[in-house]
Amino acid sequence: MTNKDAFNEAKKFIPGGVNSPVRAFKSVNAVPIVIQKGDGSYLYDVEGKKYIDFIQSWGPLIFGHCDKDIQNAISSALSYGISYGAPSLNETTLAKIVCDKFKNIDKIRFVSSGTEATMSAIRVARGYAKKDGLIKFEGCYHGHSDALLVKAGSGATTYLHASSAGVPENTVKDTHLAIYNDLQSVENIFKTQSIGAVIIEPIAGNMGLVPAKKEFLQGLRKLCDEYKAVLIFDEVMSGFRASEFGSLPYHGVLADMITFGKVIGGGMNVAAFGGKNEIMDCLSPNGAVYQAGTLSGNPLAMAAGIASIKKINENPEIYKRLETMANNLVNGFKQAGAKYGVDIQINVRGSMFGFFFNKNEVLNYDDALKSDTKMYALFHQAMLNKGVYLAPSQFETGFICTTMTDEDIEFAVNAANEAFKEITK
Ligand SMILES: *Cc1c(COP(=O)(O)O)cnc(C)c1O
Repeated sequence: MTNKDAFNEAKKFIPGGVNSPVRAFKSVNAVPIVIQKGDGSYLYDVEGKKYIDFIQSWGPLIFGHCDKDIQNAISSALSYGISYGAPSLNETTLAKIVCDKFKNIDKIRFVSSGTEATMSAIRVARGYAKKDGLIKFEGCYHGHSDALLVKAGSGATTYLHASSAGVPENTVKDTHLAIYNDLQSVENIFKTQSIGAVIIEPIAGNMGLVPAKKEFLQGLRKLCDEYKAVLIFDEVMSGFRASEFGSLPYHGVLADMITFGKVIGGGMNVAAFGGKNEIMDCLSPNGAVYQAGTLSGNPLAMAAGIASIKKINENPEIYKRLETMANNLVNGFKQAGAKYGVDIQINVRGSMFGFFFNKNEVLNYDDALKSDTKMYALFHQAMLNKGVYLAPSQFETGFICTTMTDEDIEFAVNAANEAFKEITK
């Protein structure tokens, strides 16, 4: 079967042929590959073609596909049943592992997706602060719950609109949009609104990779203290990816709450939100903030999470090697582009990498949008043809996994050289 046939069949029964829109390759105007299997650093499509996988399921697979330790943990758990809907020991084990690691996290609750984690974190934060106002940043993604799907109005207006059909304007009326890396834009909102929570990706990975400046996060911390708002770091992507402590070593700023996802489940459906006791104890059944989940803390998912985070704790040196490979990759892309007159901005944080076809440094969403998306589409297709699987949009982050080798990176850089040669001629 060809990818095209398989995808056409999917489109008959699944909207757009996908269960999450980015997978449809719309922004690069192409037919997605349909996956047969993964193996370490590689993916194979239904045509049997092999690719180096720089998406790694959008982040979770820091140890690559089919990691034996994670697979074994899941198989052992499987023999004890798939789900209980009742307390089990693995939940406490994983909770303790995470709480021990982050000194600003006393308690944590597990959910099944990043969307749930951020949505629930915001609810607790608002319940604790007893104020409805929420600040989020343009270009940051925190999942698809109603209150977070907002976009700026045109011109200088401060009014927001829902960025998705089906989201009532009423549900976004307490959401305020600030500009990433721009403290003044945050202060302006604090001055005029009653804000209970601020949510931010301390390393933005959903407008391409755009790290927050340290001084900016320090300033944000100060404003939240001054105005008594709960600061939430959404580390669904950067947690256990940027470093074993997520973004923290890059800025040293302690948030009031952290959300986790992706790596914390090692490829299974796990996400979580945690914070200080006084905040987390507002949650039902202790407090008045309701939140629940039939499959939350699922035993198979917990087993996968424990295996992943334990492996990280036992091998903290992996991040240095992952970062070196990430740097070699994007520096290679940058040099290849330079040979053919293509300007590229690069960023790396641990095992996360990003590159923009842009002449100028990218500090926020507006900057990111000035990147050359047509060039990206051509580059993406050329790389795919050469067996390199990159995110099908410039506004995503790429991921290195531990099974990757220097040869894999070299292969991808060589492919980039050939790709630029073809697409700039
Ligand atoms: C992926 C992601 C989410 C959403 O997680 P899902 O599991 O896809 O719902 C939220 N926040 C950030 C920062 C993410 O990268």
